Amino acid sequence: MSKTKKILGIDLGTTYSCVACINDYGQPEVIPNAEGERTTPSVVWFDGQRAVVGQEAKGMTSMYPNSVCSFVKRDMGNDNYAFDVDGVQYVPEHISSLILRKLAKDASQFLGEEIKDVVITCPAYFFIKEREATKRAGEIAGLNVLRIINEPTAAAFAYGVKPNENIEERFVLVYDLGGGTFDVTIVRISKDGVDVLCTDGDHQLGGKDWDDRLVQYLIKRFNDESRQHAKIENDPELYYDVLQKAEQCKKQLSDKKNTKTTLSYQGDKVQIETSREQFEQLTEDLLDRTITLTNNVLAVARQKGCTKFDQLILVGGSSRMPQVANKLRKKFSIEPQIFEPDEAVAKGAAIIGNNIFVQHLIDEKLKRRSSKLTVETASPEELEVASKQVADENNYTLEVVTNATKRAKNVSSKTFGITVLDGYDAKGQPLLSVSNLIYRNTPLPAERSEQYATIADKQQIVVVELVENMSDAPLPGQPEPVVNLDSTESLWNGELPVKPNLPKYSPIDVTFRIDENGRLTLIAYDPASNGKLEKTIPEQNADTQANMEKVTLLSRALIIE
Ligand code: AMP
Repeated sequence: MSKTKKILGIDLGTTYSCVACINDYGQPEVIPNAEGERTTPSVVWFDGQRAVVGQEAKGMTSMYPNSVCSFVKRDMGNDNYAFDVDGVQYVPEHISSLILRKLAKDASQFLGEEIKDVVITCPAYFFIKEREATKRAGEIAGLNVLRIINEPTAAAFAYGVKPNENIEERFVLVYDLGGGTFDVTIVRISKDGVDVLCTDGDHQLGGKDWDDRLVQYLIKRFNDESRQHAKIENDPELYYDVLQKAEQCKKQLSDKKNTKTTLSYQGDKVQIETSREQFEQLTEDLLDRTITLTNNVLAVARQKGCTKFDQLILVGGSSRMPQVANKLRKKFSIEPQIFEPDEAVAKGAAIIGNNIFVQHLIDEKLKRRSSKLTVETASPEELEVASKQVADENNYTLEVVTNATKRAKNVSSKTFGITVLDGYDAKGQPLLSVSNLIYRNTPLPAERSEQYATIADKQQIVVVELVENMSDAPLPGQPEPVVNLDSTESLWNGELPVKPNLPKYSPIDVTFRIDENGRLTLIAYDPASNGKLEKTIPEQNADTQANMEKVTLLSRALIIE
C-alpha cells in the first residue's frame, strides 16, 4: 500500500488523551508521546513562559496546585469557567489547545512530518457549545479540525464494527468508563452507516471516584496503624501524594489480587496491604451507578425499537478493572469485549479521519463528472465507479474505500422547544408551558416545523423563547409530554414583530433545524407580513470574543513541553 496521508485521530480525554493515525499498512496505530507513553495525562502546568503538559504536569499537582489545571474537559463550553494564571483567565478552549499542541507536536515529531489535519473526539452527549469549544481548541492550537466525532462511534469503529451490505441492523452497547466520566451509548450499525441511537451517562463519575475511595481507605488505615491523625481535607500536598499512590494501587489490583502501598507522613511510615476484594467492596456502589445508567439507556433504546444488543464493548481506562466486565457479564448475560480500552477511541478517530480523506478523494472524482455530485447525492452506480478509481489510483482495497463512504451520525443530546401560553389561572395570570419540537436522541440532522398562533387581537410582537430540557419523545400514538417550566433552561429569547392589526389566533410558524454538528437554528415566521426571526446558537458575545482573542495570543506564545 502506498504511504497514506496522515490524519491524527485525537481522543481528548478528561484525564488522559491519546493519539493515533493510520499506518502505511492501513491499520490504526497509537503514536507515543515524547516521553514514550501511549497516553498523555490531560494536565497542564503553567510554569512561567512554559506550559508543561502530561505526566510532568500531573506530578506537579501537589506542589503547585494553583498553577496545575486538570479535568478541564468537564468544563468545556462552560462560560463561567476560567483558570487564572497570574491574572490571565484561561478558558477551557485555551487549556485544551495547549494539550492538543503537545499531542500534535509529539506525534509530528514521531512521524517525522508536521501534521495539521486532525479528527477530535468528544462524548456523544456534548451539545453544540461543547463541540464548538472543542473545535475552537483545535483551531487555537493551529490545527485543521476536519471533524468532531462521537467517542462511542469512534470506539465502535476501532472494535471493527463496520457498516456492511449484509447487515440489516445491529446494535452495539458501548460502555465507556474513563477517568472522570461515564458514558453509555447504543450505536446502531446498518448497511448505510453507523449512528448513535441513544446515550446517557454521568459526567462526574469516573476512575477518579474509585481513586478517592481508596484515598479515604488508605488514610484511615494509616491513621489506625500509626499514632497520626492525618487529614487530607486541609492538606492538598498530602491528598495529591496519596491520590497518586491510590491510582497506582488501583491499577495494580487490575492485574493482581493483592497489593502493598507505603504511606509516609510526619516521620511515620506504614505499609498497607489491600486486596482486590476489599477494593471492590469499597467501590461497589459506584459500579452499581453505571449499571443503573446502562439500564436507563436500554429502556430508551427499547422505545426506539432496539430490544437487544448484539455486542458489548468496553472503552475507557477504568474498564480495565476486572469488576467491570464481571458485573456486566452477570447482569446482561453477554461476554463483554475489551481490547486496549484506553486506545480504542483514538484508533477509531484515526479510522474515521482516514475515511474522511477517502471520501474527499471520491467527492473529487464525482465532481469531475458533475459539479453537484457528492458521496451523499451520487447514485450507487456512480459511487461504485468513483470508488473503484480511487481504490486503483491510491492502492486501497475496494473494501476500505466503500467503508469510507458510510456515514457516522449523531443524535440530539437535549430536547428543544419554545415556551407557549397554556391559558390563564384563576387570577388571570398567564400559565406558561413548553412545546417541544426536537426531542433528545433524535438522529441529526433534524428539522421540525409547527404552527402556533398569536394570543391577542392587534398583537404587535411575538416573544419567542428557546428552551432546552431532558424530556423523552412520546411513544408512538401517545400525546406529547407537558413540560414544567422549572425543569427547562432558557437558552435565548427574541421578538418577532407581526403584521399590524392581525386578529387573535393568526398563525406563526416556528421551525427548528439542527445540523450534524448539533448547531441549532430557530426560525419564527409571520406568514401575514413575511417577517422572520432567525437565530443560530451558540453565539459568543463581544466581550467573550475579545477575551478569547487576547488570551489566544498569550497561550500561543507559551512554549509547550
Ligand atoms: P481514560 O480517560 O479512558 O484514559 O481512562 C483513564 C482512567 O483509567 C484513569 O482513572 C486511570 O486511573 C484508569 N486506568 C488506567 N489503567 C487502569 C488499570 N489498569 N486499572 C484500572 N484503572 C485504570
